[in-house]
Amino acid sequence: MKGVRRGDFVGRLWSKVDRRDDGCWLWTGNTDKDGYGMMHVVASTPSGATTKRAHRLVYEAEVGPIPNGMQLDHLCKVRCCVNPAHLEPVTPKENVHRSGTMGNKWNAGKPGLRGESNGHAKLTGDQVDHIRVCLSTRILTQPQIGFLFGVHPSTISAIAIGRTWSNAS
Ligand SMILES: [Zn+2]
Repeated sequence: MKGVRRGDFVGRLWSKVDRRDDGCWLWTGNTDKDGYGMMHVVASTPSGATTKRAHRLVYEAEVGPIPNGMQLDHLCKVRCCVNPAHLEPVTPKENVHRSGTMGNKWNAGKPGLRGESNGHAKLTGDQVDHIRVCLSTRILTQPQIGFLFGVHPSTISAIAIGRTWSNAS
């Protein structure tokens, strides 16, 4: 039996992960229509190759099997993020419930990651970089990105057209 060469697979997985200083691990490979990272995997089953969501693969590689029927909720609300620390297994029902309170849980429980979490957070160069990545993936709208980073959408649009933060690298 040849089986799956796990080392190759894990290496391929990590080669597509961009570990940001702000905590999010952004998936740089393909994404599906919903903005979730996707990865082609060779399954050790008769069905052969399949495509899986990248954040689930990373979670299983780092943490362990995801309980049957559970979804992974992105606590940071960055769909292309695959950091297991930002993922929490929840029931589909709970996941839907949470998506109705976008960002609240994260902002309430995790001060620091998104600045001072006081609504007046100044953006660091790293955050501006992250915003640029978010913009380039076109997963989120500019108001959504602004909400995530605690800044006005006009700040995001300014970054998008390169008017401000041009000195941040
Ligand atoms: Zn994240």
